[in-house]
Amino acid sequence: MPEFDLIELIRARCAVAREDVRLGIGDDAALVAVPAGQALAISTDTLVAGVHFPVQTHAYDIGWKALAVNLSDLAAMGATPAWATLALTLPAADARWVGEFAEGFATLAREYKLALVGGDTTQGPLGVTVTIHGFVAEGAALLRSGARAGDEVFVTGTLGDAAAGLRCLDRNDAEANRLLGAAAGTREALIERLNRPIPRVAQGQLLRGWASSCIDVSDGLLADLGHVCAASGAGAEVDVDELPASPALLALFDREARRNLQLGGGDDYELCFTASELDALQLLGDLARGGCAARRIGRIVGAPGIRLRDASGNEVASPRRGWEHFA
Ligand code: ADP
Ligand code: MG
Repeated sequence: MPEFDLIELIRARCAVAREDVRLGIGDDAALVAVPAGQALAISTDTLVAGVHFPVQTHAYDIGWKALAVNLSDLAAMGATPAWATLALTLPAADARWVGEFAEGFATLAREYKLALVGGDTTQGPLGVTVTIHGFVAEGAALLRSGARAGDEVFVTGTLGDAAAGLRCLDRNDAEANRLLGAAAGTREALIERLNRPIPRVAQGQLLRGWASSCIDVSDGLLADLGHVCAASGAGAEVDVDELPASPALLALFDREARRNLQLGGGDDYELCFTASELDALQLLGDLARGGCAARRIGRIVGAPGIRLRDASGNEVASPRRGWEHFA
């Protein structure tokens, strides 16, 4: 299928009408209108086959995930998604693959009324780059730099599932065999978290005005909370026995393995945020009513670095760091 037919296929599948898109796909650039008083929030994330998703991942899931990880970055800023561009590098012009990819992308795009306004289509090793644009009222964005000593640290949803899902797919060893023996649906629930992350967009918007800082957990809690601490000139204590775990994670991994997945595993796309004790009270209720509870997992302290404690108050050694390219 020629390049322009592929673009037309993507355009047709991803059609979302927005009044603020004055000119969408088809010209040399898109034209859009930013509402008065709003800052434009812009973020880019790339998924490379074999690095950010296993090569056998279904096209639908790749489309979903490419948009989800970008929506997650806007969620972490408290921004409202509006538009995206899509740079797609494909080994071959496979219309069926592109159709399924576009459907995964479009399913999330429709949910957030996000318009795909442009992109680029090239041939090469499979890779997807999405640039997302959203709005947040001037001065209202959630930043990494706002955490203060005495604030409490929270995380939405559960941690470690995506990394556990990757382990279910990745290994060809005794552990993979053990995981294959899991109760029906357990393994699948973890793999679903890896392939179809749910961006916490509504939660990010609830946090605006209440949370002192926020980040999405893409590289692992230790790495991402570390970014918040570094940006805020502070440190943190994390209560490892408070880290929220899904039933599937609890069923398949012992305490030690679970801790490592929850602290070091990436790809969960939950929000980690800080708030004063008083603001947290209001927030936790709002989040729970919104259908995604958050849990207190520690506190911000003045001394830099992250210390881990178990339920008895004993210090716990840190597992390996989160994912870093070129490390
Ligand atoms: P140009 O050569 O002027 O850069 P292209 O031929 O690459 O334009 O693209 C034609 C139109 O299709 C442009 O509006 C571009 O934004 C859009 N487009 C190309 N690839 C994609 C894609 N993968 N997803 C969405 N829009 C795309
Ligand atoms: Mg051009």
